[in-house]
Amino acid sequence: MLHRKAARLTQLATNAEPEARTQLEAKIAVLNEHRTAAGAKRVKINRELGFHFARQTADYATAAGATVIAVEDLTTLETRGHGRVNNNRAAQSARRKAITALAHTAASVGITVVSVPARGSSAQCPGCDAPLARPDGYHTAWCSGCRVGGNRDHIAGVNLAKRALLGKGKVTRRRGQMPAVRVAEHAPVRRSRDKTGPTPRRPRHRRVRRSLPTVTPRAGVTPKQICSCTSSVGVGHGPTRTTSR
Ligand SMILES: [Zn+2]
Repeated sequence: MLHRKAARLTQLATNAEPEARTQLEAKIAVLNEHRTAAGAKRVKINRELGFHFARQTADYATAAGATVIAVEDLTTLETRGHGRVNNNRAAQSARRKAITALAHTAASVGITVVSVPARGSSAQCPGCDAPLARPDGYHTAWCSGCRVGGNRDHIAGVNLAKRALLGKGKVTRRRGQMPAVRVAEHAPVRRSRDKTGPTPRRPRHRRVRRSLPTVTPRAGVTPKQICSCTSSVGVGHGPTRTTSR
């Protein structure tokens, strides 16, 4: 923005009267100063954001008793179309910085950060590797075979963790890079049975079962929630509040 403004003024200055030109040149100098300041501020903010994210994630992993954090390697995705290249590049550099910060912070509490391939992480079922259905649009996923589903990002999280754990013996390490798993293997993931989620339903007695209508409730990685927002949001959607039950 500031750059474009300065460029426009430079263009005007080349054909301006000497008096106007000195004025314009002064303006350009001010603009350039602002541009440098804004850039420095952005770098600082990105850095702060990166370390904040790293701290939170590392604390969360420690609390969960994890020893490894999997990060998806987005370079494994093909670039589709080349529009918005620069936009994307800017976002990726902040992301990369955040991941570097995470590797750093996690290492201090004894947690390894590995990168795993990103392809298909939210498209395939963690249980049976079959493509997932999208019953309610882009954000939800559902496997009718395993009766698992939920938010696509949660599914992706399960799949990425799976890839990290299965690739444990096939980690490539390169100097100056974080350990990477480059193969996406499949093994069925069973639904979590820790005590933080609802108890899975048990089959009811045959006699009772026969007298009930056969409606199978959706159980899954996350219970389906009714969301108050219908618009699609980009990265950082955040927790969805349940508005009705
Ligand atoms: Zn499945």
